[in-house]
Amino acid sequence: PPSTQPVVVIDAHDLPYLNSKLPTKKRVADLLGRMNLAEKVGQMTQAERNALRSRTDIASYALGSLLSGGGSVPTPNTPAAWAAMIDTFQLHAQATRLQIPLIYGVDAVHGHNNVVGATILPHNIGLGATRDPDLARRTGEVTATEVRATGIPWDFAPCVCVVRDDRWGRAYEGYGEDPALVRSMATVITGMQGKADGSQLKQNNKVLATAKHFVGDGGTTFGSSTTGSYTIDQGITEVTRQQLETLHLAPFETSVDLGVGTVMPSYSSVALDGRPPVKMHGNGELINGVLKDRMGFDGFVISDWQAIDQLPGDYPSDIRTSVNAGLDMIMVPTNYQGFTQGLTEEVTAGRVPLSRIDDAVRRILTEKFKLGLFEQPYADTSRIDEVGSDAHRAVGREAAAKSQVLLKNDGDLLPLSPAKQVYVAGSNANDLGNQMGGWSISWQGGSGATTTGTTILDGIRQVVPSATFSADASAPLEGHDVGVVVVGERPYAEGIGDVGNGHDLLLSAADKTAVDKVCAAMDCVVLIVSGRPQVIADQLGTIDALVASWLPGTEGAGVADVLFGKRPFTGRLPVSWPRTEDQQPLNVGDASYDPQYPYGWGLTTQATARQKLTEARNVLLQKRDPYALAAAVAASVALHVKDWSGPQAPVALAALARSGKYLERTKVDAYAQDDAVVGAARWIAQNRIGQNVDQPTSKLTSDAEHALLTGRLQTAVGKLTAAYNLR
Ligand code: BGC
Repeated sequence: PPSTQPVVVIDAHDLPYLNSKLPTKKRVADLLGRMNLAEKVGQMTQAERNALRSRTDIASYALGSLLSGGGSVPTPNTPAAWAAMIDTFQLHAQATRLQIPLIYGVDAVHGHNNVVGATILPHNIGLGATRDPDLARRTGEVTATEVRATGIPWDFAPCVCVVRDDRWGRAYEGYGEDPALVRSMATVITGMQGKADGSQLKQNNKVLATAKHFVGDGGTTFGSSTTGSYTIDQGITEVTRQQLETLHLAPFETSVDLGVGTVMPSYSSVALDGRPPVKMHGNGELINGVLKDRMGFDGFVISDWQAIDQLPGDYPSDIRTSVNAGLDMIMVPTNYQGFTQGLTEEVTAGRVPLSRIDDAVRRILTEKFKLGLFEQPYADTSRIDEVGSDAHRAVGREAAAKSQVLLKNDGDLLPLSPAKQVYVAGSNANDLGNQMGGWSISWQGGSGATTTGTTILDGIRQVVPSATFSADASAPLEGHDVGVVVVGERPYAEGIGDVGNGHDLLLSAADKTAVDKVCAAMDCVVLIVSGRPQVIADQLGTIDALVASWLPGTEGAGVADVLFGKRPFTGRLPVSWPRTEDQQPLNVGDASYDPQYPYGWGLTTQATARQKLTEARNVLLQKRDPYALAAAVAASVALHVKDWSGPQAPVALAALARSGKYLERTKVDAYAQDDAVVGAARWIAQNRIGQNVDQPTSKLTSDAEHALLTGRLQTAVGKLTAAYNLR
């Protein structure tokens, strides 16, 4: 059912800021002019919803924002309950003098991961392996649609960290070790927000994104030499200015270009060029100087959870330093009384200029207006059925499949024939929680069936119903053709997972035993379900095929898709795969660095171009549609081209491209259910054709193309065969 609160349509009475026809700038200026200091300070304050002493505090403190920290979920944890909960809070904000809506935020870092029944996508490390920016964009769309459908307009994602040390417990939140890769995947922001100017944020399938954690969170070393703390998370990034720019700042530059609405600083510190470390939450040089002034970021900066408390000095000084460094909203999250009082005092005493406050509030209000919250503060639940929908799960399944990296494939063991007798083993073969990792239903994640989805075993059994399963490999091994051993990590999130707090990059004893037993008895495939590489050097010799599965999320069937060849393996390593743990962190420019598998490694089971083209042609031929047939004819002709580097190739490719593009542009919706046709068209249009598309073609070919596009197939075949000199 839709949320229980009535939608209050704000009367467009004569106050300019409530007039949606006026430009945002005017509305912001009008509203800002009406606000007193307490209201401004309130806008800059974000409390955790569980920390509210009373809901009336929303109005009393004029709070600008609330969040659900990891695992802070309503009961029951259903999409409708989320929407209803947010409406209840919003009702209190609507009871204030100026009716400024709250902006509610959550960590939906791989799908709407707090909500039971939502689509939980692979963690970013797996998405990095797909090398597919369009897919990243679509994951952003899925997440945004599900999040907004439950009344939440703001998501603390994506993490655009560049992971330089796999021992970091948050390594899986990043897309990889290469800034170019991370930049390419920032398309997720477009999926979440739409156009860079923010003009689509009002839509009920868009949310405000957060690029985090600014900056260098993935480049920290083992804490500080002075404190001697032994964690990587929240540590110190010791870099030259040049390294900071090229490695860590670059993805933020891209995020800003894509119009990201908010940026979250990192808990960590940056020590530039050998200078003493500066906590990012007080780093005016990088926040004011680089992010806002140089990059031109005009959204707002939201602090991390209670992070200003870590600044040196007392609380008033923490407030002063962070706000003056350019933080616009502070995730308090419990001490909202202390914060609002403290900030008010700092402003009154002139230690934080009022102009800084006005700038912060202007930024926050601008995003609220862009999101359309003044017109529609309550949940628009019209898309709530899309939470965990088949269409969204299909994207999750595609992403899971494309994220699989085939590291080793002796004797072409993969893909497996469905006719094989399969023995499935290992601790992560049938554990939904483990394959989702941290930030799944609860903050740290947890083992077991915490939500709905398919485990990898479920996926395998959809293909081979008779597959044997034995988590610890104790079932009899005889009578099987192939073993699939799924091993790896248990879930963890920040603060946990770093080496030094009980975690390392080694498999558990039980997992190792399972690998040994199964691989000694039969051909075996080992899948590693983990947030980062696991050192496997000593067992590699016994393993026939090895797959890095990362944390595929709720759609384990996607993993089975590549195992059985429904889709090819195409993933490539987003991080280098070390031989030993002491090969971390990555040694920049170290020529002797010799990983087990280098960055970018990944075998493919992709069909050859010829197989793929034949398959595409056959599918297209079955369509009773002139465009599909036209593409099929072009494909047939192209199959006659013997030498793809010869003179015939460009024209054949051009014809293919045109027909493929035409098919894609005009018919893609009609075929949306049919992966094969869309895939064929995409393939024809993009992958194989490349730059040849725009090459000038002969008169014969353009006649042929014209015939193709107007459905005169006989003529097209005649012209194309003549053009290719096939007779
Ligand atoms: C994490 C952030 C997260 C925030 C809110 C912090 O502890 O570092 O990534 O967005 O909590 O849950």
